Amino acid sequence: MPLSPKISALPSVLLMGPGPSCVPPEVYQALSAPCIGHLDPRFIALMDSLKTDLQTLLRTQNHLTLPMSGTGSAGMETCFVNLIEKDDHVLVCVNGVFGGRMQDIASRLGAQVDTLEFPWGAPVDAEAVAGQLKKKHYSILAVVHAETSTGAVSPVAGIGELCHAADTLYLVDTVTSLGGMDVRMDEWHVDAIYSGSQKCLSSPPGLSPVSFSERALARLNRRASKVPNWYLDMSMIVKYWEGAKRVYHHTAPINMIYGLHQAVRLVLEEGLEKVFARHLQVHEYLVEQLQGLGLSMLVAEGHRLPMLNAVNVPVGIDEAGVRSCLLTEYGIEIGAGLGPLAGKIWRIGLMGHTARKENVDRLVEAIKQLITT
Ligand SMILES: *Cc1c(COP(=O)(O)O)cnc(C)c1O
Repeated sequence: MPLSPKISALPSVLLMGPGPSCVPPEVYQALSAPCIGHLDPRFIALMDSLKTDLQTLLRTQNHLTLPMSGTGSAGMETCFVNLIEKDDHVLVCVNGVFGGRMQDIASRLGAQVDTLEFPWGAPVDAEAVAGQLKKKHYSILAVVHAETSTGAVSPVAGIGELCHAADTLYLVDTVTSLGGMDVRMDEWHVDAIYSGSQKCLSSPPGLSPVSFSERALARLNRRASKVPNWYLDMSMIVKYWEGAKRVYHHTAPINMIYGLHQAVRLVLEEGLEKVFARHLQVHEYLVEQLQGLGLSMLVAEGHRLPMLNAVNVPVGIDEAGVRSCLLTEYGIEIGAGLGPLAGKIWRIGLMGHTARKENVDRLVEAIKQLITT
């Protein structure tokens, strides 16, 4: 039987937006392996091996480290829904769309949410965080490591100790950073982390690696109320992911787990340091090439993410027109600006498998033709 015509007609697109990123052939191969049962001992062995690889990737010893069934936002929701109780005081740093989403999720759970706002395109300021933690006790502080809506990196390494001193749980979004730059969960004193499969890990969207520290687990275990969301309740999900006797919670997305397992293997086999260096080099090359075309970057040097490059759209250029031409005529996808940056920037992703010099060359050549004709 041939594939359905609608699926077989899909073109292969060079994915240079804010995610999903290009999926390597080994991951596609893994996704198409036979589906087996979610309690099959061979599948459980695969889950255990993925858990170990995720610990290596996150540089953590946390035994509670597993992929949640859902995209990055499900990981975000998992962290808040398990660790917040009604009326808890929560501090969220907001310097783009994803900090805003954290605030929304925490508020919906009935938390008393304060925000520290920073300009879009600038990093979170650790000094400001320290000042706020002195004013009031918070049960959780949440920060986005790599703000994909603006391309700015925040100094998350320096904030963990402040949180510990204040008896505050430290929650970090690493959806875009994990697999593209260093994330050191234990060394940075991070208590809860989540990521996503489709950014620098280069697996299709659908899974969200999550890890909880012992402090986070203790918070979960001493809740006065049940976790208000059944599907994301970590206290039940661990019984499927840990222990000698596995207990069914929901049917694991088997083939997605094959894909993520293969994707993380590829990253570890290449070697973390090499992968991070590749992202950095390709980013520097892109910036140099774009500046050669007379284009400028939104984020100041020193605060730029390697894997997400926000480029100012020059005056007189049709922002959406260029993106649409890139997609239909050159087979390349890049992203638009969000919120206050809509219409003002393009977002160029160099995530995971996409982060290669030849992809930059293809994109820069196409942009050159589009903005100079
Ligand atoms: C993409 C992204 C998310 C949300 O992930 P989804 O997979 O789209 O649900 C959250 N935070 C950051 C920083 C992201 O880049």
